Amino acid sequence: MSNLVSADALPCQAQAADACFEALPTRDAELGGGLTIRRALPHRQRRLVGAWCFLDHFGPLPLEPNATGMRVGPHPHIGLQTVSWLFEGEILHRDSLGYTQLIRPGQLNLMTAGRGIAHSEETPAEHGARLHGLQFWVALPEAHKNTEPTFAHHPEVPRITRDGMAIQLFAGQLFGEHSPAQYFSPLTGFDLQLTDSGARQLPLNPGFEYAVLLTEGACELDGQPCTPGQLYYLGRGRDHLTITNKAPARGGIFGGAPLGETLILWWNFVARTQQEVATARADWEAAHERFGAVRGYDGARLAAPELSGRFKAS
Ligand code: MN
Repeated sequence: MSNLVSADALPCQAQAADACFEALPTRDAELGGGLTIRRALPHRQRRLVGAWCFLDHFGPLPLEPNATGMRVGPHPHIGLQTVSWLFEGEILHRDSLGYTQLIRPGQLNLMTAGRGIAHSEETPAEHGARLHGLQFWVALPEAHKNTEPTFAHHPEVPRITRDGMAIQLFAGQLFGEHSPAQYFSPLTGFDLQLTDSGARQLPLNPGFEYAVLLTEGACELDGQPCTPGQLYYLGRGRDHLTITNKAPARGGIFGGAPLGETLILWWNFVARTQQEVATARADWEAAHERFGAVRGYDGARLAAPELSGRFKAS
């Protein structure tokens, strides 16, 4: 996914709040081909949840057999990991390391940009009837921001079924299960389906801050009503969350140790300084070997937005 909604530089405040319940409305945007996304992070009032710094909920988009679907041409990333998770459909990923990988529901694509990578994402020619999923970005901590770029496809992640919940763990640990995916700061993330109605407790790490994005249905979190279209920030300091529902519901729950760093999120880059952003932008525009080339995508690479005045002035 490329950040086509805003190229404004967003300083990410790293301050975590104590246990709270903030409902932050998502913002709608159109990515072309009829694909609507709801951006949950960054939010003006909440830039980070642990190291999680970006979240788009895309679809559900009905796809005719010859539909275009998702078409995000080659674009660069630095300083982050992209976490792709599907509820329905398929996405074909290609990157400048030479990986071409189809992802389906229940599978995880984890791309570590480190010092620089480029990739494209598209609906494959052979595809299902709908496209629906989540894409997260995770900021790499300072010590790992220039790590070697890598790509990992996990054909499955741990599945946990208990208390009317079906959980798929794509980051961190829960109920003694461990996700195989490699991250660079303490965090957790999972797909939670409420398959039966009722009330149950989910264990949380009191040192983590958490957020919840429902994609279907409705539930209550510690007695507070939750519906799609809002990101619910829960703060930190909780050792459990009581989840109550009367009908099926689904969404993502994610959290982590507060990163404690101030970041700049500009376009598809996570950086610390304006110079880092300006250099990465110039390297992409010059087709510098730092980012490499994405082969096999039938379309143009994305041009970087212009730098705003405050960047040019520096
Ligand atoms: Mn991307």
